[in-house]
Amino acid sequence: MGKISWDEKSCQHAGNCVKGLPNVFKIDDGRFVIDGNAASAEEIKKVVDSCPSGALKYKD
Ligand code: SF4
Repeated sequence: MGKISWDEKSCQHAGNCVKGLPNVFKIDDGRFVIDGNAASAEEIKKVVDSCPSGALKYKD
C-alpha cells in the first residue's frame, strides 16, 4: 500500500478528494484525515490526480 501525503498550505478545499472517496478522505472533528487502507491504490490515484491544487500526492 502506498503513501498519501497532503499539503495543507496548497489545498484549496475544492473537496474533490472528499467527494471522490469519502471513506478515504474525510473531515473528522474539524480535521482532515486520510485512511489509505479504505480503497484500492488505483482508486486513490484517480482521486489524487483530480486534486486541482496538487496538495495531494501518492507514492507507491
Ligand atoms: S482535492 Fe486537493 S485541493 Fe481539493 S480538498 Fe482535496 S486536497 Fe484540497
